[in-house]
Amino acid sequence: MKLKYIAGGFLLFLMLSAGCRPGPASLTGRHRKEPAGPKEFALVHVNVISMVPGQEPVPDATVIIKDGKIVSLNGPVPEQAMVIDGRGKWLIPGLIDMHVHIPVDGHFNTNHPTRVAAIFTNTQDIMTPFVANGVTTVFELISKAGHFGQRNEILRGDVIGPRMALAAMINGGDGSGRIASTPSDGRQSVRLAKAEGYEFIKVYSQLDTETFKAIIDEADKQGMKVVGHIPTAFKGKTEEAFAAPFGMVAHADEFVRQTNEFTEAEAKRFAEMAKKSGTWVTPTLTCMVWIARQARSLDDVKSLPGLQYVHPLLQSKWLTANQYNRNKTPERIAYHEKVVDWNMMMVTALKDAGVPVVAGTDAGTSGVIWGYSLHDEIELLVKAGMTPREALASATRLPAAWLGIDSLTGTVEAGKYADLVLLDANPLDDINNTRKISGVFVNGRWLDKSRIEAMLADLSKRNTASKGKWEWSKRGEY
Ligand SMILES: [Zn+2]
Repeated sequence: MKLKYIAGGFLLFLMLSAGCRPGPASLTGRHRKEPAGPKEFALVHVNVISMVPGQEPVPDATVIIKDGKIVSLNGPVPEQAMVIDGRGKWLIPGLIDMHVHIPVDGHFNTNHPTRVAAIFTNTQDIMTPFVANGVTTVFELISKAGHFGQRNEILRGDVIGPRMALAAMINGGDGSGRIASTPSDGRQSVRLAKAEGYEFIKVYSQLDTETFKAIIDEADKQGMKVVGHIPTAFKGKTEEAFAAPFGMVAHADEFVRQTNEFTEAEAKRFAEMAKKSGTWVTPTLTCMVWIARQARSLDDVKSLPGLQYVHPLLQSKWLTANQYNRNKTPERIAYHEKVVDWNMMMVTALKDAGVPVVAGTDAGTSGVIWGYSLHDEIELLVKAGMTPREALASATRLPAAWLGIDSLTGTVEAGKYADLVLLDANPLDDINNTRKISGVFVNGRWLDKSRIEAMLADLSKRNTASKGKWEWSKRGEY
């Protein structure tokens, strides 16, 4: 508890020193250290997909970047700028993953009070897959004190990583963590989370209906948006969960759990409910696809190209203690497959009803790899009926708006932070082209393809070399 208060206090210091800015200061704050390498860039002859509503792609443009910000579009090229040739390439805003779970330092077994962590993660290694994939902002939905530390490492410029939005989770039931079983406990949990420095609240499945409503109401009073699951207790009276400002539902399948009727009529009914209450949805399509795949077999996980960049202890967990594969039955596999189809139908219903859909992956779930999975999600959104432009908006401009940082990131415009992805081909022609990354600007720091490849190769080499040291079955010894 005490550590968290210290973290909160430090955060407050950062917020004060950053002055009055729109959006949470810790999300938008500039790196305190000057970024390594050049500070001024001219990206020339590039095709810009700004993602500003109604704006067509701008061909053969010049984008000037200075001190971490976009200075101008088609303005003069400063003499000292490093020139990057964008001929034949496409520039899009940095990508945003609205549902991630990032590992932090931790322990499985502690034998005295000061031995808090026994497994230490290298923050750069955790963040490299994000930045290598053009992900420049993430939303962590089960935030811990360790995430504040990671965010500070990034803000200081010690680690190249995405902006991090942090949500504090509140659940009901009798588990551990922030548990609230009465409305007054729910309100107090929200106020404590705010005092600890969190910007957002995540609600979870076991909350009772009255506590859930109290949390939503208190979060609104505290100026905190709420994201999360629809508690099971609302089954049969789902509309009650949407009576107050429920900011965002964290999975498309949250809706089907409220009914178990996999019909289009139900999808439409839920979409209307969300529309009426102004609730947005993160469908996390890729997560359910991977759960269904792993229920059938672990072969696809084993052959994932991104697996080599996952911490070896997690690789061991995913392959030797996989909860989706271990508990498989033909019925369960069939159920997962039905949910995959339902989720796609739900996205169509949400789109038709005019509910904003944002891209989130649940990265950190087995098979769902940080950074790589966001491209899978964007592809699935197109398969579910979105246009490539709509799918891109769901991973750039829209999530920035939901997080309250859209005046600073989410589009390619002068005055915004230089969170940018340079692609070798047009993603509006084929959405899979978001994977053809030529380079990434992370808060104004330029990573070209060779730099990205070197970072990944180094990470893979070290992970592979230390594989023997990490076995999930022996975690109690760490
Ligand atoms: Zn999640």
